Amino acid sequence: MDTSLVVYNSLSGKKEPFKSIDPQHVGMYVCGPTVYSNVHLGNCRTFMSFDLIYRYLQHLGYKVRYVRNITDAGHLENDADQGEDRIAKKARLESIEPMEVVQRYTVDFRNTMAQFNALPPSIEPTATGHIVEQIELIKQIMEKGFAYEINGSVYFDVIEFNKKTPYGKLSGRNIEDLIHNTRTLDGQSDKKNPQDFALWKKAEPVHIMRWPSPWSDGFPGWHLECTAMSTKYLGKTFDIHGGGMDLKFPHHECEIAQSESIHETSPVNYWLHANMLTLNGKKMAKSTGNNILPEEMFTGKNSIFKKAFSPMVVRFFMFQAHYRSIVDISETALEASKKGFNRLLEGITKMPSLTLSENSTGFDLQQWKSKCYAAMNDDFNSPLLIANLFDAVKYINAIANGLQKISSEDLIELSTLMNAFFFDVLGLMASKNNTSNETDEKLDGTLQLIIELRNKARLNKDFETSDLIRDSLSKLNIQINDTSEGTLFKIN
Ligand code: AMP
Ligand code: ZN
Repeated sequence: MDTSLVVYNSLSGKKEPFKSIDPQHVGMYVCGPTVYSNVHLGNCRTFMSFDLIYRYLQHLGYKVRYVRNITDAGHLENDADQGEDRIAKKARLESIEPMEVVQRYTVDFRNTMAQFNALPPSIEPTATGHIVEQIELIKQIMEKGFAYEINGSVYFDVIEFNKKTPYGKLSGRNIEDLIHNTRTLDGQSDKKNPQDFALWKKAEPVHIMRWPSPWSDGFPGWHLECTAMSTKYLGKTFDIHGGGMDLKFPHHECEIAQSESIHETSPVNYWLHANMLTLNGKKMAKSTGNNILPEEMFTGKNSIFKKAFSPMVVRFFMFQAHYRSIVDISETALEASKKGFNRLLEGITKMPSLTLSENSTGFDLQQWKSKCYAAMNDDFNSPLLIANLFDAVKYINAIANGLQKISSEDLIELSTLMNAFFFDVLGLMASKNNTSNETDEKLDGTLQLIIELRNKARLNKDFETSDLIRDSLSKLNIQINDTSEGTLFKIN
């Protein structure tokens, strides 16, 4: 097993050598989606980042227990502990059962991640399936003196906890800043202090998603489910906990406090956070409407991009940036990714037909292999790995053009490594949606020609012909739109 992996731990704020608790096994918990709407592409970026990490750990030989939850209760609007449950609200607006909302968007999430070729987690537990465990945790936190009940709701006492263990270490906050920066209680809440957070909320009469508990008929606080499920399936201390950067505070900070208040030990050895996908320079988010759904990308039915992009091109685009960098999605970047993806795939496809020679020339295979591993071992640096794969494709093309040579032994090794990195680690695949550059260019050229003929027909007032062209293309799911920038086409 390769042990030179180094990961950036958000808790220490630096890169650390990775050492799992059990040398053969890794326990990894990733906060899953709140299933009250379709996942947008930003959400998918985070889940794809952890898919890459999961795949690479497995590639290194670890057996990974990957737990990713489904939040199907307790996540209130604005991440607050006052207000309506996101799922119940959607159910109310659509006059359906909350569990119908949960079912619909859980299925959507799974289908979407499958289209991106993300591996399913080993365990996918739900918050509603772990109410008993959450109630037990609350009892334990209360017994330790770090939670209090008021009017049927239970709150975590941050000030009391901080007297024993510093609160805020993951997000770099301290209690004084928090006290200073949190708004004073508005009279709506019955918490003792504004920075306290809900462990259990008494349900208002209109709140449909409710369970009996020693304190009231109510529901658990959002942060509690992840502590309950990670502890249950991975133990009180496990290796990796992940999620998007925006979950660091308060969600993950609260998880640490909950767990440490009971177990008096750090729940997680490595906290990994994936950075945000932005659109027009702003974070993609469900709440602001600044987002695009994967399906809208794949079909081209959206007002942001002129063309459709396949799941594999989007996945490749994501991995061309490091998971800890912010990435802005744009048509130009996606076009470049499409070209790059096709170039790599064409290179790999070419390998079996290369002419073999006695000896190899012009490429240091062992050095290249070390560079690929060094990239991934340096906190999963996928853009650097991809740059190395491009170097190999340059070599493959040079062999195909008779400029360099490769021995049969080297070809077997190069081909095994290229396949492992491209298909297994990066999780890319050749799909019917990925037309090659050459095919694309031919199709683009043909469509331009057809559009010119249609424009000519219109100029000559031959509307019969121009309509025939538009309708025939439409039957093939090719839309043409006459815009101020000229006639544009979109292949759906
Ligand atoms: P949610 O369903 O809102 O709890 O989000 C699910 C996951 O997506 C969380 O790990 C978030 O941190 C992550 N996420 C939300 N918005 C973005 C974004 N714009 N880019 C990357 N990840 C995001
Ligand atoms: Zn979580």
